Amino acid sequence: MSDNRVVQGRMQTPESLAELIEGDGVMDAEPIEDADDDCPECGENVISVGYMPSALEFVTGYKCQECDWSDTDRD
Ligand SMILES: [Zn+2]
Repeated sequence: MSDNRVVQGRMQTPESLAELIEGDGVMDAEPIEDADDDCPECGENVISVGYMPSALEFVTGYKCQECDWSDTDRD
């Protein structure tokens, strides 16, 4: 797959990026995209990935490519 991205110096697939954001395993993940926002912590590029932590839930996760910051669209 060509949509792997380097995050904090490590190559991440959509699945591994989603697991990094979730802190747990995920069932499925969509291709990584560029988010329109800069990181609130360091100002670097933020990428997003849609994923399913379980069969009943779809979450969009956000992760800075340069620091530990991450977020999801959960309330
Ligand atoms: Zn950052």
